[in-house]
Amino acid sequence: MDAQDFRRFGHQLIDWVADYREGLASRPVMSEAQPGDIRAKFPAHPPQKGGRLDEAVAALDRDVLPGITHWNHPSFFAYFPSNTSYASILADLVIAGLGAQGMSWQTSPAATEVEEVVMDWLRQMVGLGEAFTGVIHDTASTATLTALLSARERASNFSQNGRGLQSGDAPLVVYASDQSHSSIEKAALLAGFGRDHLRLIETDDDHAIRLDLLEAAIAEDVRRGLRPCAVIACIGTTGTTAVDPLAKIADIAARFGPWLHVDAAMAGTAMVLPECRDHWTGIERADSLVFNPHKWMGVGFDFSAYYVRDPEHLIRVMSTNPSYLQTKQDGAVKNYRDWHIQLGRRFRALKLWFHLMDVGVEGVQALVRRDLGNAQWFKDRVDAAADWERLAPVPFQTICVRHVPAALKGDEAALKAHNLELARRVNEGGEAYITPALLKGKQILRVSIGATATERAEVQALWVLLNEAAAP
Ligand code: PLP
Repeated sequence: MDAQDFRRFGHQLIDWVADYREGLASRPVMSEAQPGDIRAKFPAHPPQKGGRLDEAVAALDRDVLPGITHWNHPSFFAYFPSNTSYASILADLVIAGLGAQGMSWQTSPAATEVEEVVMDWLRQMVGLGEAFTGVIHDTASTATLTALLSARERASNFSQNGRGLQSGDAPLVVYASDQSHSSIEKAALLAGFGRDHLRLIETDDDHAIRLDLLEAAIAEDVRRGLRPCAVIACIGTTGTTAVDPLAKIADIAARFGPWLHVDAAMAGTAMVLPECRDHWTGIERADSLVFNPHKWMGVGFDFSAYYVRDPEHLIRVMSTNPSYLQTKQDGAVKNYRDWHIQLGRRFRALKLWFHLMDVGVEGVQALVRRDLGNAQWFKDRVDAAADWERLAPVPFQTICVRHVPAALKGDEAALKAHNLELARRVNEGGEAYITPALLKGKQILRVSIGATATERAEVQALWVLLNEAAAP
């Protein structure tokens, strides 16, 4: 392909993406593909001769779109949103076009310095103090693994003492709530803590960590000669967006010494609103925190914002310095390769820059406020309906409900089957997409509002749809 063909295909594909976005509402939200359907459309062997890109472009509608679940659909209420704004799509094009690696400052100074700028903008946007320095990670999962490795480093100096994860006098322990995301358990295992040294503490009726049990677990471990290494507080759990009491957790952490990491993957974006910041009072005392602009903010996947108060432990574990990576600017600049696991890195900062230049802080705030309002509207409908039950507070944009018809009241097995069937009907009907999940043994329907295209009309339509699907 030469530059001329690139222009031709590029214009065609920009049009294709715009048409796709404009036509989203008429598509079934969840893909109707069955396992193997999409694979069967593709030849088993690679093309021997090239020059056939036009065939691939023409096949997008026919062979690929049927296998896409539409995350930017206005009636996407599943999981958490994965919003990708037009500006961020264009930034991705520029990033790919530049094809630059930002592993060291010298390998593309703009990649490092634009990241420094936009991560500082983002810090200001969510009301974090200047003590925090940010770096872009691919996902919250990786950032949390990085946080736990940093915590291990601070507790045992494992990167320097030659004995690695085997080092340290006492076994190290990690604490989080039983509602914390599965990435926490994965990170604890990958960081070498072992299942026996991960305490998933019970939560209260609002699904937030029980401070009395957290404190008791830490005190008991200390009494037994174990060492508390990290506590993870969640601001906005995956199941219900529950909020762990951060300031009180910080008090406990200060008393016993573990690293305090905050997982605000979804809810961090809400902190662009000053009226939401009470939810993370105490954040200034965290050692690290992560949130995902690639969820609610509109910055296309992947873009996870990881902030640390003191990069020293992070850099000690993550830095590599072979001769071929050394540059004369070392020591005077940031080499972001030392701030995460991988070496090579995309110029992701462009996505946030473009997005913010397009919508501004006020644009982000307006969408978050709209979604919080829509969630309260939906919550009020549920609370006013005799045959619906809400199973969690609604601090942000997720509502956890179940349908409880009078005939099934008290019969947990029947309620489970009934609500699973209800979710199946809604999702397979194609008009909306919600997530069925278990919350402390109860089958819930989890409604997550926050796709950029979702207005009040779609939320109202979902309420009607749920009631129709629940009708006998
Ligand atoms: N933490 C929480 C609270 C989440 O809800 C999620 C994903 O939904 C994650 C972590 C993992 O996010 P990522 O896909 O960026 O690893």
